Parts: sequence; structure tokens; C-alpha cells
Amino acid sequence: MNILGQARFRLIDRLRGTTIVSTLKRLRKEQFLNPAALVTISNKNRVQLIEHALMSTPYYRNINKDVHSSVLTKDIIRKNPESFFSNTYVGKKIRKGTGGSTGAPLVYYTTNEAQSFMWAGIILSWETLGYKLGEKVAFVAGTSLAKNDLQHTVFYRLLNVTVYSAYHLNDSDIKTYLIQIKKTRARLIYGYATAVNSLAEYILKNGPIQFPDLRGIVTTAEILSDKHRDNISQAFNVKVHNQYGCNEAGISAFECDFGNMHYINTATSLALDSEGNVLATNLVNKAYPMIRYFTGDKFSLLEGESCPCKRGYPIMGSFMGRTCDMVIDQRNKVMHSAFFNILFRDDKHIEQFQVQFNKNEIVVLLEVDDQTLPEEYFMHYLDIVKKNMQFDHYDLKINYPFLPAENAKHRYVINTSNEAITL
Ligand SMILES: [Zn+2]
Repeated sequence: MNILGQARFRLIDRLRGTTIVSTLKRLRKEQFLNPAALVTISNKNRVQLIEHALMSTPYYRNINKDVHSSVLTKDIIRKNPESFFSNTYVGKKIRKGTGGSTGAPLVYYTTNEAQSFMWAGIILSWETLGYKLGEKVAFVAGTSLAKNDLQHTVFYRLLNVTVYSAYHLNDSDIKTYLIQIKKTRARLIYGYATAVNSLAEYILKNGPIQFPDLRGIVTTAEILSDKHRDNISQAFNVKVHNQYGCNEAGISAFECDFGNMHYINTATSLALDSEGNVLATNLVNKAYPMIRYFTGDKFSLLEGESCPCKRGYPIMGSFMGRTCDMVIDQRNKVMHSAFFNILFRDDKHIEQFQVQFNKNEIVVLLEVDDQTLPEEYFMHYLDIVKKNMQFDHYDLKINYPFLPAENAKHRYVINTSNEAITL
């Protein structure tokens, strides 16, 4: 029994009014229920949430029966944010904003219960790699994970987390980070896939470092490419699991030892529209109900499949990224960033890519591992882009600096004309 670790989290719960410890306890057991039992709980929670929303929020009272077919977009919430408050919810409401990768963040409200679930879901993903409550964790992240005001500083101290900024990733920063991670005997690294990959590349380039205390690495917030997974596990000599969360939608998913991403279906109810976009009903946020919310993510759902890990939570299939990562050409043809993921993923020389476009031109930036390869080697990719999309100019740049995002996540696609893409 890990008494000290438990005590840290009980103190967090007491100070913040959360219930992380009890929620985590419930999820630890619940994850091994059989799939049918979990679907029953999920359906029951959905019926209750919809009933609650219809009775207590102006927005859902208005659309009434359409609640089962309508799609909730960020724009609808932005136009009338007040109409989503439940007038029967009496607990504390916490104001939150989504990350601004589309340039237009969404403000919504959440609850202590939903916050507790978010943290319990993250910790559940850490536990798949042997993490025990209260152990040292290194966060490699930008603002969407790590806030640096006093309240959060105290919170991270109690969580036993050290934050390493994903904004600062030149070689000397990375060297300092790695020395600290080793010295503080971090048990787990949790961070953006591309940022953790930068640490891995540094180690692979500059010679091995041993991390005898490290149990594993969990990446989050971005797509983890096979190339990056290999880099990270080779450099740190531990297993790498991916974690995915979309907090406003109540989605929390974690990878098990068998490479499957299980999502916690008792906290969210997922449906797909005809184009495969994920619509989520958040089952844990009673203060600001969001039903059939357009998440901007695309992935398939493998509901009936069982996993050798014996978890009953359903499995998310191939993750196709965020729909805000879209290229729109002069004929208004929309290409998803997944198109480029698939295009480049089998080329072992391509480490990373970014596509920048505006109404006149498209520029494909490739980070490649071999400086001696001639540019012509990569030109056939531009031919494929030309065949699929119409612009006046096409350009390919090799090992040219990427444009960074405000929150230090890697951006796969950037609309440089700054015209907001409305969904
Ligand atoms: Zn599994």
C-alpha cells in the first residue's frame, strides 16, 4: 500500500474539492467489467444526462426532441453560451477554454466531478506502465497541460510533478531537462509526442543516458507517429503508451500493453456522423451539458472487439487527427491532415512535416534525417499534392523551420491567410 502517495492525492482532493482518489478507485475496477455491462452503464448515464439537460437548460429545452439528431458545434455554444447552463446544478462551475489550434478557442464550464474524472483518466493511463500514486512525474508540455500560476505550482508540487517547458527545446535546454529528469529520479515522463521526441532525438544523437528509475513514457495531445514511438522507446529504453483526452467532451482514452486505445465509455457516449466525425456526449459534466458535440476529431470505433488485456472499455480505431488540421484548396476541396500522415508515414527519412497554405499557394515542409539526400528525392510528393489540390504555387522545403503553435504543440497544417476556418 502506497500510503504517502495516497496522502498527497487526498490532500489535493481536500484542497480543491475534487474526488480524484475515489474516481480513480472506481475506474480501476470498472475498466475490467465486461463490455456489455459497460455499455449498459454508458447508456443509462446518457439517458440521465439528456433528461437532465432537457429539464434544466434553455438550449436543450428549445431544441427538445431534436436532441437525438442535432449536432452541437463550437459556433452554436459561442453564439449563446448562457443557454447551456443547467439551472438545477448547484455545485461549483469552473471556467475553461479549449486550446486555440483553430485560432478560435471555446469557453465552456466544467465541474469538480468532471475535473476529477479527467485526472483519474490520465493517472489510469500512467498506471498501465506501473506508475504508483505520488511518484515523481516529468511533464514536458506547453500551456494546455501545464499552467504556471501559484495555484498550479502548489498543485504540481503535491502531484509530485516537475514541468519542463515544451516551448524551450534547443539542445542546451534539452540537456538540462534530461539531467533533471535523471537526478529527480522521475518514474514517468508525460508530455506532447513531438516534444518528448525532441528529447529522444537528442539522446540518440549525443550518446546514451541511462534512466534506471523510469517506468515508462505516456505521450498525449498529439498524434504519436510510429517513427516517434520508436525514437522515444529506443532512447529511453522504456515502453511508450499514448493517451488522448478531449475534456470538454468527457473523452479520456489510454493505450494498454497490447497497443489498443481504450476509451472510458461510462464518461462519454460517442457517435459518428456520416463523414466519420466524432460526436460526443459528455456524461460527467452536469453543469454545462454538451450533447452530440462536434469534437473535430476523426477516429473509428471498434465497439465489439475484445482485447487480451481484458479491459471492457471499447477500443478507438485508427486516429485520424483533428479536423481543424485541414487544407482547403482553391476549389474549396478539403483535405484532412491524415492525407499527409498517410503520404509520409512509410518514408523512413521523413521525421516530421508541416503543410502551410493560403488561397494562392501551398508549401510542404519536411524534416528529414539525411542531409545528403537530394531534394529531387522528395519531389514526387509534390506531384501527388498537385494531383489532389489546386493552388497557383506549390513549394517543398527541406529542413526549414516549422511555424510553432501558441501552445507549443506541433501543428501539422497551418492556414497562413489567417482566415478562421468555421466548421
Ligand atoms: Zn487492451
